[in-house]
Amino acid sequence: MRFSSAFAVLRCRCKRRPSVSFSHRRCFSSYPPPRPSFGIAFDIDGVLIRGQTPIAGAPEALRRLYSDSGGLKVPFLFLTNGGGVRESKRAKELSLQLGINILHQQVLQGHTPFKDLANRFKEGLVIAVGKGEPADVMLEYGFKNVLSIDEYASYFDGIDPLSPYKTWKTRSMIDKGEKEPCKPPHTRNVFSERVEAAFVVSDPVDWGRDIQVLCDVLRSGGLPGRENSHQPPLFFANDDLEYQAVFPTNRLGMGAYRIALEAIFNRIHDNALEYTCFGKPNPSVFRNAENILSHLPCCPNVEPYKGNSTITGTHLFKTIYMVGDNPAVDISGARQAGHPWFSILTRTGVFKGKENDPQFPADLVVDNVGDAVDYILRQEGFV
Ligand SMILES: [Mg+2]
Repeated sequence: MRFSSAFAVLRCRCKRRPSVSFSHRRCFSSYPPPRPSFGIAFDIDGVLIRGQTPIAGAPEALRRLYSDSGGLKVPFLFLTNGGGVRESKRAKELSLQLGINILHQQVLQGHTPFKDLANRFKEGLVIAVGKGEPADVMLEYGFKNVLSIDEYASYFDGIDPLSPYKTWKTRSMIDKGEKEPCKPPHTRNVFSERVEAAFVVSDPVDWGRDIQVLCDVLRSGGLPGRENSHQPPLFFANDDLEYQAVFPTNRLGMGAYRIALEAIFNRIHDNALEYTCFGKPNPSVFRNAENILSHLPCCPNVEPYKGNSTITGTHLFKTIYMVGDNPAVDISGARQAGHPWFSILTRTGVFKGKENDPQFPADLVVDNVGDAVDYILRQEGFV
């Protein structure tokens, strides 16, 4: 790597420049190694992975954060707005893709904060929308009464008038060798059981049907087909307008779906759609990441921080680096979170500019995650 060219853009913000916090200290056998006073949060899509394939240099960059014994040398986690599967499953998938051992605690997805809402809805019926296994995610979080929108919609004849024209096969149909959609048995009375809340866990697959069904649920007070009533709560795991996948140009994300749903709902209902979006750039996501970082097992013989769990790790970390590809999400969020966050923007995803992003300038712009890790380790005296 050409160090000089890779770090062509360094935003001048002297107050937030990270200090060398761990440099040149020698670890003697009679003393446990000090816990690094810095941590790293990596976005995934467009930084480490594109589609299902690791971005060149990403596995090697992450391996530098492990000790020879395989333990974490530097506390780091993945802070993604993506999701659709349980954190434990995503950790296994990432471990295989990147060739490192990733703990489930290191994976923070857009829907991870939904966990904190499980007690609020307790036994109430909630529907989970999105690709992957949205209902399984919610069940793991402690929600007791969850239906995926696929299953929920299947109970209502004619709720999607276009379904006869949809000739595609779902993954489950392919796996089961089925040619026709298989309706679940009517083991519950969804016609009288009010939907208490709707959660968009991951990117919706069938936008048309999901907009129709959510409009039915939300404008009827949770009982599709009934008269207009008070809207149940609606939650989105993120509000990303676009993201970088395999296709050369950006793809429409959950934020685009939210805009479509909101525009239509507001035309057919007297009251404007009410909703809550989680995920980056919400500063609370970054505060939670600080807390998780401070509790990660790191550096053998050093106890993780055991303070009050409601206290963030701000006093523990002098610097936390956010490495992301999306200025409006990763960089904006780190900037809003403030100290101790330091933002690094890569050119491997949504951002492809030569200089810094004009609207959400990062503290540092680099070509790729390898350059980002190299900068961090040099800055912290690890190389
Ligand atoms: Mg990204």
